Amino acid sequence: MNIVLLGAPGAGKGTQAEKLVDAFDIAHISTGNILRASVKAGTPLGLEAKSFMDAGELVPDSVVIGLVKERLKEEDAERGFILDGFPRTATQAVALASELEELGRNIDYAIAVEVSPEVIIERLCSRRLCKACGYIGSKGDEACPLCAGEMCQRDDDNPDIVRNRLDVYTKSTAPLIDYYRGADLLIEIDGIQSPEDVFKSIKKAMKA
Ligand code: AMP
Repeated sequence: MNIVLLGAPGAGKGTQAEKLVDAFDIAHISTGNILRASVKAGTPLGLEAKSFMDAGELVPDSVVIGLVKERLKEEDAERGFILDGFPRTATQAVALASELEELGRNIDYAIAVEVSPEVIIERLCSRRLCKACGYIGSKGDEACPLCAGEMCQRDDDNPDIVRNRLDVYTKSTAPLIDYYRGADLLIEIDGIQSPEDVFKSIKKAMKA
């Protein structure tokens, strides 16, 4: 099972990706997580990506495409994968299609989780992340319910940066919904439901 997850920042892609990974035993490929880990580790990739991420801008296509190509070749992705936060531009979508063709693989579904901009801003500004395990929680969480790690706010989850990330999404990423609709791979899901109900809707649409 190979899945592309589309949706604005804060639509709930990360949460649904984790549920899909558990359900289908496939690899979770989140470009945002890979980039954040690289920034934290101070690698050359992280150093290159940091200023774009801090500003809520997209990291250049060539950088992100290169890292996804490498990640797709790792062993755990052979069983299937879920791409969370990639592709985000038409160039990335075309590069993904040609890389998959070369690997003799294909996308089964492109799942778009849809949430209004007002809800996104509210969600992102109150989102908190566990520093240790990456659990996604919210403002009131004092400690991570999974590992008791310290909760923090992502640097790019502040109101000004969030607005820019939404603009970037509307301009560069939202057009991919039509791209995948045209390829007859699109599933559209109402993201303004509980995470459990969003997941039920996804499974129903996939007939899984
Ligand atoms: P995310 O965690 O998916 O919201 O990504 C956080 C940030 O990482 C984004 O605001 C971008 O700066 C960068 N990023 C993640 N995925 C991509 C991508 N596919 N293309 C370009 N930049 C990305």
